[in-house]
This record gives sequence, C-alpha cells and structure tokens, in this order.
Amino acid sequence: MSDSNAVEALVQALKRLPGVGIRSAQRMAFHLLQHDRAGAQVLATALQAAATEVQHCERCHTFTEHAICAICSDPRRDSGLLCVVETPADQSAMERTGAYRGLYFVLMGKLSPLDGLGPAELGLNKLFDRAADGLVREVILATNFTAEGEATAHVISEGLRQRGIKPTRLARGVPVGSELEYVDLGTIAHALVDRR
Ligand code: ZN
Repeated sequence: MSDSNAVEALVQALKRLPGVGIRSAQRMAFHLLQHDRAGAQVLATALQAAATEVQHCERCHTFTEHAICAICSDPRRDSGLLCVVETPADQSAMERTGAYRGLYFVLMGKLSPLDGLGPAELGLNKLFDRAADGLVREVILATNFTAEGEATAHVISEGLRQRGIKPTRLARGVPVGSELEYVDLGTIAHALVDRR
C-alpha cells in the first residue's frame, strides 16, 4: 500500500489494460517510478500523442494520423486486391511477409454479438460497397482461424456472394484456432499464395 494518490491513480490506469490485474499494475508502476523515470516520461508522451492524434483511415479503417493511411495512398499498391483482416496487428503481420502488394480493409474487430459487435459496427456495408466498386478484382478473407474469425469470414462471404462476388480465403496451413499476428511469416505467405 502507498499513501500517494498519484501512485494509486497510475496503478488504476495501468489496470485498464487487457490482461493486467492489480498485482501486475502495481509491479509496472513500481518499476517505472523506482527504476525507469525516463521510460515513464517516454510512455506518457507516446500515450498522449497517440490518444490525441491517431484516428481511423477513411478508406480501410486502420489506425493512422492522417485522413487516408500510407498504404491506401501508396500508388504502387495493387488496388485490385482487397485483403480483409481483423486488426491493425494482423495487417502488420501480412505486411511483414512482404508477399502482399494489395490494399486492406481492417474490420477493427470480429463479429461478436455478445459484445455488441454486429455487421454495422464492423462497417460491412462499406466493405461490400468497396468490393463492388469496379476496381477490386479479388477480395481475400484473412480473418483469424478462430471460431469467431471463421464466423466473420462466413458472413462476409455470404454478403459478397449476394453481390456476385466470390471471395478467396487464406489457405489452411495457418493452424486452426490461431490469430494471424502470432503466426510465423512464412506460414502466412504460403497461405496467401495458396488461397482459394
Ligand atoms: Zn487506409
């Protein structure tokens, strides 16, 4: 226990992070205050800047500090390919493979009715309109190979078929139940090449 309100406020703030309980939050606070004041300042500045400046790309919904993100505004990308991923972390994993040169649509989540995340929250109508804009030749579903990721891919696939578009899905080889951001890059690259 401490008698400092500032310490307690820091612990409570850290506890907001996913997977962080009271003990971890106390350990982090103690570490920053006792051993890494410079790191605490770096963290505070980075949080302040990100929380005020980061927004969603108007085209793909990923995080960016601009109206349109760097990938969407890169003329060298193939605008005929549209890859659907759940999160910016999954998008980063795809990018790190170096095997994909198209554009993205980042759902910023997955269908999860219990959490209030339905087709509207994920912007699926915007995705369907985009897929049917005449520029897109292929939609690649790269949602995670978890139950919710598969359900999300299924709903998107149905929506696209109703508009006469047949999407491809990353090939199996990505382990069942896995999230892209944790899969090794070679496996993702192969799943991309073998998509069907
Ligand atoms: Zn974008």
